[in-house]
Amino acid sequence: ERLAAAAAPLTAGALADGHTVPLLANLGSPADAAGAVALGAEGVGLFRTEFLFLDAPQAPTVEQQTESYRQLLEAFPGKKVVVRALDAGADKPLPFLTDKDEENPALGRRGLRALRNKEQVLRDQLTALAQADAATEADLWVMAPMVADAEETEYFVGLARELGIRTAGVMAEVPSLALMAEQVFANADFVSIGTNDLTQYTMAADRMLGTVASYQDPWHPAVLRLVAQLGAAGADAGKAVGICGEAAADPLLAVVLVGLGATTLSMTPAALADVRAELGKHTLDQAREMAKAALAASTAAAAKTAAAAAHAA
Ligand code: PEP
Ligand code: MG
Repeated sequence: ERLAAAAAPLTAGALADGHTVPLLANLGSPADAAGAVALGAEGVGLFRTEFLFLDAPQAPTVEQQTESYRQLLEAFPGKKVVVRALDAGADKPLPFLTDKDEENPALGRRGLRALRNKEQVLRDQLTALAQADAATEADLWVMAPMVADAEETEYFVGLARELGIRTAGVMAEVPSLALMAEQVFANADFVSIGTNDLTQYTMAADRMLGTVASYQDPWHPAVLRLVAQLGAAGADAGKAVGICGEAAADPLLAVVLVGLGATTLSMTPAALADVRAELGKHTLDQAREMAKAALAASTAAAAKTAAAAAHAA
């Protein structure tokens, strides 16, 4: 609580016209919470829960998980904290949950697909989160990773509500989900765009593979078009559209993402100050002009140049 008070003088994320854009932190363990608060995080936009499960021969108990989530939530009284359900598979295999020897694990049974196949693991995690929520003052939101469409959204949100989660949503990491945005919002309370995986899957280029690293650029207009579709659908539904991939940490791109309809930005805490400063240089109308210019470009590099030229701050 002492750290929360120390961070109070930092201004909240806002555009030059006063339009607010809450700036949230991506965290990997409850121990990172105090540092994020000190850097002015207004809450948590992505809490990665894998740390609890990696290296474990089996899933931690509901009690163990509840204690961890309680520690996290206690660091953010009255603030939004978005927790992601376990994202196992691909680069994060877990012996008790994921399949061995998949030929293309990034396209395999990972994320929500793996949890749905071992539903008790997901039920236990959601139960622990609901218990931690009931014992603390934070505003807990829970989302699923690697969700492909509206049916999977309905499944996850339904199960989360059944187990006592009040606000449930999905990550937009797979292009099929973005293309079905309207139907997704029929059930999801919110969507958070994971631009790392969304870029990987849009460009069909393994984000871990150096030989195709040049494809992993969230400035690509193909990625921006999917963000725009999600932003428009979120606005129509009156629901939040967050960004929690690395793209939110690029100050100029952060402005463009807001112009495309992002309502919150979540990033590594070290990036908060630069993003906060850049947002303050542009109005919402200017951010929309920058977004429009980027969308009309044909390459990632051209999108960046066009956005910068559309409103040079
Ligand atoms: C993403 O894919 O953008 C994301 C935030 O999740 P991760 O980087 O953990 O896959
Ligand atoms: Mg991801």
